[in-house]
Amino acid sequence: MYFPRSVLITGANRGIGFGLVQQFLKHPEVKIIIATVRNIEYADNLNEIQDSRLHVLPLIVTCDKSIDELVENVTKILGEHQGLNLLVNNAGIAVEYGTKSEPSRQKLLEQLDVNSISPVIISQKFLPLLQKAVANSGNAPNFSIAKSAIITISSRVGSISENTKEMKWSNLLAYQMSKTAVNQFTRTIAIDLESDGILAAAFCPGWVKTDMGSAYAELTVEESTSALVESFAKLTKAHSGGFFKRDLEVIPF
Ligand code: NDP
Repeated sequence: MYFPRSVLITGANRGIGFGLVQQFLKHPEVKIIIATVRNIEYADNLNEIQDSRLHVLPLIVTCDKSIDELVENVTKILGEHQGLNLLVNNAGIAVEYGTKSEPSRQKLLEQLDVNSISPVIISQKFLPLLQKAVANSGNAPNFSIAKSAIITISSRVGSISENTKEMKWSNLLAYQMSKTAVNQFTRTIAIDLESDGILAAAFCPGWVKTDMGSAYAELTVEESTSALVESFAKLTKAHSGGFFKRDLEVIPF
């Protein structure tokens, strides 16, 4: 099991993002945890945590200026010589939009902007810091989260092979498309960044009791995120470009 010195999690105000922050805080190897939120003033859960390793910073994932300011702030926090070991693209929305919905370009664009386009832009803008981590992470094994990795929280509903009549996802067309796109992004960057020594993987957290997942979901945030972080810590080069359940079981694309 390998843990990062530094990790950044988007959409950490609540739900799975907040759960991931709590899990990483349990590991003393993790020295810097950057939790991004849309509005710091309303980040009550995070603001209550007394731990000098935690840095709460603003980020609206769809705003390039906000991403640029975040990169600047994170660079200062990490210090001159340290890169970022792990970027977790977690922030997401689920727009209700099915095949028979009133056609709406605006709804489709909003869904794709948050879930598919933003992880691409954020990962690209953090690439120099991820590359720096490869060079400056000492003996940490290559293609591990202790060295340099981009993990994207996707969803099983983005799997084309599992999209059959039996699955009957309702009103999830736009959301499914957004997760399929982000899975393709993960596979492509894993290939493109192999020569840089950077790992990329996509995970489905399961059906989780959050505002998005609803109170009827199967898993608590603690159950999902503890399994996720354990799996992240086991990642090796063999996993790069893959799509996994929280226990590291492969999900077909
Ligand atoms: P929640 O709705 O509970 O939380 C979503 C988080 O994303 C919030 O912190 C929210 O910020 C943030 N966010 C949304 N839009 C933006 C934006 N434009 N800029 C910055 N932050 C934003 O969702 P979950 O925790 O359930 O979901 C987390 C991830 O897990 C998502 O990618 C989701 O698709 C995925 N997932 C969830 C499942 C589930 O069952 N819950 C199942 C499969 C996948 P704010 O608090 O400010 O609104």
